[in-house]
Amino acid sequence: MKLKLSTENRYIRTKELKLCLHCLKGGHFVSKCRQKSLCKKCSGKHNTLLHHEATKLDENLKGLGSS
Ligand SMILES: [Zn+2]
Ligand SMILES: [Zn+2]
Repeated sequence: MKLKLSTENRYIRTKELKLCLHCLKGGHFVSKCRQKSLCKKCSGKHNTLLHHEATKLDENLKGLGSS
């Protein structure tokens, strides 16, 4: 199945799969990510592919770390 995912869909999928929003790999969250390159659009700590103008990703991420 080859779908062109929108940024928002990609972001949701990444969260569903519990992947790191920064390097898109599993096993850790953004807070533990060692990826050095930041979002090219806003210099935020998320993958440029997941950058969404209307979504403040970093604010959503704050809820993930507490468990
Ligand atoms: Zn990562
Ligand atoms: Zn960004």
